[in-house]
Amino acid sequence: MANKHFPVVIVGGGAAGVSVANNLRRKNALLEIALVEPSDKHYYQPGFTIIGGGAYTLKQATKNEADLLHPSIIWIKKFAKSFEPDENQVTLKTGGTLTYDYLIVCPGLQLDWDKISGLKSTLGKNGVCTNYSAKYVDYTWECIKNLESGTALFTQPPMPIKCAGAPQKIMYLAADRFRKKGILDKFNIEFCNAGPGMFGVPFFAKALTEVIKDYGITTNFGCNLVAIDGKKKTAAFEVKKGDKTEKVTKKFDMIHVTPPQSAPDFIKESPLSGDSGWVDVNPSTLQHSRFSNIFGLGDVTNTPNAKTAAAVRKQVPVVAKNILKLIANKDLIEGYDGYGSCPLTTSLNKVMLAEFAYGGKVTPSFPFMDPRANRFIWWIGKKIGFPWLYWSLMIKGYSLDIPHKESYAAKFTEES
Ligand SMILES: Cc1cc2nc3c(=O)[nH]c(=O)nc-3n(C[C@H](O)[C@H](O)[C@H](O)COP(=O)(O)OP(=O)(O)OC[C@H]3O[C@@H](n4cnc5c(N)ncnc54)[C@H](O)[C@@H]3O)c2cc1C
Repeated sequence: MANKHFPVVIVGGGAAGVSVANNLRRKNALLEIALVEPSDKHYYQPGFTIIGGGAYTLKQATKNEADLLHPSIIWIKKFAKSFEPDENQVTLKTGGTLTYDYLIVCPGLQLDWDKISGLKSTLGKNGVCTNYSAKYVDYTWECIKNLESGTALFTQPPMPIKCAGAPQKIMYLAADRFRKKGILDKFNIEFCNAGPGMFGVPFFAKALTEVIKDYGITTNFGCNLVAIDGKKKTAAFEVKKGDKTEKVTKKFDMIHVTPPQSAPDFIKESPLSGDSGWVDVNPSTLQHSRFSNIFGLGDVTNTPNAKTAAAVRKQVPVVAKNILKLIANKDLIEGYDGYGSCPLTTSLNKVMLAEFAYGGKVTPSFPFMDPRANRFIWWIGKKIGFPWLYWSLMIKGYSLDIPHKESYAAKFTEES
């Protein structure tokens, strides 16, 4: 590809990239926008949890990338390879470069399957499943559906990961399925979590401990999966005991693995990365800390919010508005408060809708409702409402700013 110049270049066309491209175009139809994205398919990843739980299909969660982008947006179906911000340039993997006036960086995060020895060769067979891949998510349901008794392990790697609740959400769906079949007492279900507790926000962590108790699930904290032997059906963990780390091996009949995650290698190696390799942006404006014409959003940034599509929904209008402010030589808005949300599927018909912002503040969008309650209405949200919000509003570039307020939760957080 010959070298080309565009006023706006976006790297990554997932939840963040498509939404911000369409949102920016709605705000200024004259701006020429190019989007670099190698995949034909676009997945609604929040649906993966309920696909694994047997309540949704991969077909429902998949659309063609080409059908999502406004025709005026120029889709460059390639991988970005490197960034040369001093020259306002992105180099593509196949050769060729793009130069830009403004750059938006949102290629998501990297799933580090290789960090767990033996995992790659056994994933999708021997009872080893994961909801973190479109290729294997159907196998999660196959494992849950076919198992009649035994040990079911669910793992969670060190943070940060995308949708921090996902490793336990599938565990509750499995436990509920076993309960509904009348076989829950034939299972030993264990949550093996490298972290120290059930959830990053203590208000919700407490409520989840009750869910765990109700299903009779054993929790192992500081317990990090490092190797799997699929044929022998064993999983090896490094377990923290005070200052020491011990190796513990557990047998399983099924194991749901959440892989370790990090910034994509091409981001880690680029001048855009900050500590730990994530794109270094201002947490409120989402402008890059060193290159003023670059913005980042979605899973790839170093902002301390929950890496979720819900966060993307709130970040998109901030980035779009701030690019237009920069073009107009005006002050940027400090518009992002760290909002993220995690609809915790605590059973096959109930969801605890955890919504929060920077600093672990509980910030629901709906007043007068205890955010810790497991509700059927949020299950309908998870299956129908949130996918509609994603495909019909966010991805199409509409900004739907439902206010979320700490005051809505005050009564409940005070009593907890
Ligand atoms: C199992 C699971 C459950 C989840 N549940 C929820 C939930 O309930 N609620 C919620 O809000 N969120 C949930 N999420 C998280 C949510 O899906 C992500 O936070 C969201 O998709 C992040 O958007 P993104 O655009 O940053 O990354 P992605 O949507 O992953 O998109 C990144 C894009 O960048 C592209 N890309 C990668 N490398 C390059 C490159 N070199 N050049 C160009 N393009 C590149 C990729 O092909 C991809 O299309 C869940 C995720 C998973 C896996």
